[in-house]
Amino acid sequence: MARFIFITGGVVSSLGKGLASAALGALLQARGYSVRLRKLDPYLNVDPGTMSPFEHGEVFVTDDGAETDLDLGHYERFTGVPARKTDSISSGRIYTNVLEKERRGDYLGKTIQVIPHVTNEIKDFISIGEDEVDFMLCEIGGTVGDIEGLPFFEAIRQFAQDKPRGECIFMHLTLLPYIKASGELKTKPTQHSVKELRSIGLAPDILVCRSEGPIPKKEREKLALFCNVRPDSVIAAQDLKSIYEAPLAYHREGLDQAVLDAFGIAPAPKPNLDRWEDVADRIYNPEGEVKVAIVGKYTQLEDAYKSIAEALTHGGMSNRVKVKVEWVDAELFDTEDAAPHLQGFHAILVPGGFGERGTEGKIKAAQYARENNVPYLGICLGMQMAVIEAARNVAGIAEAGSEEFDHEAGKKRFEPVVYHLKEWVQGNHKVSRKADDDKGGTMRLGAYDATLAEDSLVSKVYGSSHIEERHRHRYEVDIKYREKLEACGLNFTGMSPDGRLPEIVEWKDHPWFIGVQFHPELKSKPFAPHPLFDDFVRAAKDTSRLV
Ligand code: GLN
Repeated sequence: MARFIFITGGVVSSLGKGLASAALGALLQARGYSVRLRKLDPYLNVDPGTMSPFEHGEVFVTDDGAETDLDLGHYERFTGVPARKTDSISSGRIYTNVLEKERRGDYLGKTIQVIPHVTNEIKDFISIGEDEVDFMLCEIGGTVGDIEGLPFFEAIRQFAQDKPRGECIFMHLTLLPYIKASGELKTKPTQHSVKELRSIGLAPDILVCRSEGPIPKKEREKLALFCNVRPDSVIAAQDLKSIYEAPLAYHREGLDQAVLDAFGIAPAPKPNLDRWEDVADRIYNPEGEVKVAIVGKYTQLEDAYKSIAEALTHGGMSNRVKVKVEWVDAELFDTEDAAPHLQGFHAILVPGGFGERGTEGKIKAAQYARENNVPYLGICLGMQMAVIEAARNVAGIAEAGSEEFDHEAGKKRFEPVVYHLKEWVQGNHKVSRKADDDKGGTMRLGAYDATLAEDSLVSKVYGSSHIEERHRHRYEVDIKYREKLEACGLNFTGMSPDGRLPEIVEWKDHPWFIGVQFHPELKSKPFAPHPLFDDFVRAAKDTSRLV
């Protein structure tokens, strides 16, 4: 049976709770334990799939097709454990489940209440698969005191009561603000936050405090005294130059030791941190630099492309270079020539996206990369735009476009080289979609296989002719145009196993131009960079040597 670690946050949001949870997971693994990480989000959306990336950052997709919070990306990047549908839940999903049960009559005429019906639903979720791992880490989204969060805090309180003593601990992440004028780290907000937690029956065992510098002995003792934790369970989380130093930094601060102490595990198994030392060495000691342009729509909020930025960093680590990313707003090219904005980059990446805004600019970026032999990686929408560029400018299909944009505009303007996918095969059954389906959860989601053409660049890059990658799209390049495009040199080098859905295209006479219908960035890890990102950065490095 798993031991449970509940992670909550106080004082302000965005303190890096997800990262702290992920780093702790990695440290427990380094001591030989198996872990699973879970996120419980108090918002009322059923899942983040329909939330704007501007508001909520990227949507992380799991192998089994769940659209989840971007913290699950941190969990996977630090632990390498593939997340599942059952690792992410929101109030919206919990209430939907409860209401469906009520409609079915499962509650036998009872009055449905937050306690016990909603809290039971949360507790059932927390315990899924509890016999599979040594430690289950459950992060509660938001901040203590939020109205939406209350049922979750109540549920974890009950959960710990239901379990035998010593099987659950609570870790609380707060902020120690530094007041320059007096040169002091202030503990009062943390004290208030813990007081708030205790008023709902939760007492933290570990305090993780974000602070600009180390926590002096006096403040540590004060926190321990007023918050009722042991002084060595007050852990400083100082700002780091790279998130990938977090496991080492938390280990230096004694987080993993404090957690094992709280469970009474003694003697604690020794950690093996070689993996994280190598990662830190690669990130802090690059031997060169490459400049990559990401031409996208959501460039104001870097979290919107979180996994792509991380995967590029991983590719840099394997090539021992620093990848300097610049975000270029695709809409700029609606009115301006792309060349002056893209000169000087060693590679261009066009990421995924939704809607027509900015797409003409992405098409121009693909054209620039093709004509100037600049390495190009097109992801999902970035692949679709590269295909439309080829159709318009090389194959002579002047009206080529995507049905997505016609649907949005409510009128037909384009020849649908990219069309609305209505039917596909998943495992051994067929999935069907209609034009007026709900928006939530109806895309082609999750892991699907693809077969790679022999002698293609991608089969060399992957070192295999069979791959499995994660998808999240509603539209698809139409196979009907294959012959025409291949005759021009744009080869369809990756296909779904039934040969019907184009998964990868690449330009024949180009040093490195690949478009993929899936999201390779979701599977990249610092200790196992994704082959496409590894080779894309290698190609960028080659370009940087030419200039
Ligand atoms: N909007 C496109 C589609 O639905 C691309 C999706 C994406 O880039 N993730 O097919």
